[in-house]
Amino acid sequence: MKIGLFGGTFDPLHIGHLVAARLAKEAMQLDRVIFIPAGIPPHKIGQDITPSEKRLQMVVLAVGYEPDFAVSDWEILQEEPTYTVDTLEFFASQFPDEELYFIMGADMLCDLPNWQGPQRILELARIVGMKRPGFVLDECHGKLLELFADAVDRIHYVEMPGLEISSTWLRDRLQQKRSVDYLIPERVIRFIEENGLYDGRTDS
Ligand code: ATP
Ligand code: MG
Repeated sequence: MKIGLFGGTFDPLHIGHLVAARLAKEAMQLDRVIFIPAGIPPHKIGQDITPSEKRLQMVVLAVGYEPDFAVSDWEILQEEPTYTVDTLEFFASQFPDEELYFIMGADMLCDLPNWQGPQRILELARIVGMKRPGFVLDECHGKLLELFADAVDRIHYVEMPGLEISSTWLRDRLQQKRSVDYLIPERVIRFIEENGLYDGRTDS
């Protein structure tokens, strides 16, 4: 089996995430994709983040009914901040016989050399880089080639239509009470409204 792992803050989840997961699955012929909301992402410590439980619920509401998508609460249950390499060690131990594919947007992929244990990450999983507006993959690919010459066949790129949206932009709209229709799944919008998740936030 080929299993896709898709980590993120998902604050909130939006259609960019869903399209990325769907197209990565199709392109790499994955059997399923597991969404993994982050607990305390190391690069977001100190920022105002929606409680993990609420972010988890948004992901469950969005993908819970999709037979080939699943959600893992492993990262949010960890007490220490987790790095991708830790998460991959965990999933590799859970699925020793499966091939793991870690899906990420181009912005994250370009930053891979700065992550904890990039070599180990590439041993544990293949990387699937999704095109994201504003990030030219050709440029970072050169850098990745240099650094990870032996593992470069484990980095894959998938074309996706440019969906120039981010959670940051959506938080901003939500705070301003502007429409996020069609950009966030309807049941997630309802959950955000019912829980007042982005009311009065000033961090975006
Ligand atoms: P924020 O603005 O808070 O950083 P985000 O929109 O980047 O939010 P994350 O939860 O940080 O969302 O992203 C999870 C993963 O999804 C990352 O690998 C990111 O690169 C990818 N991703 C997010 N939005 C898009 C998009 N519009 N197109 C392609 N990939 C995306
Ligand atoms: Mg991001």
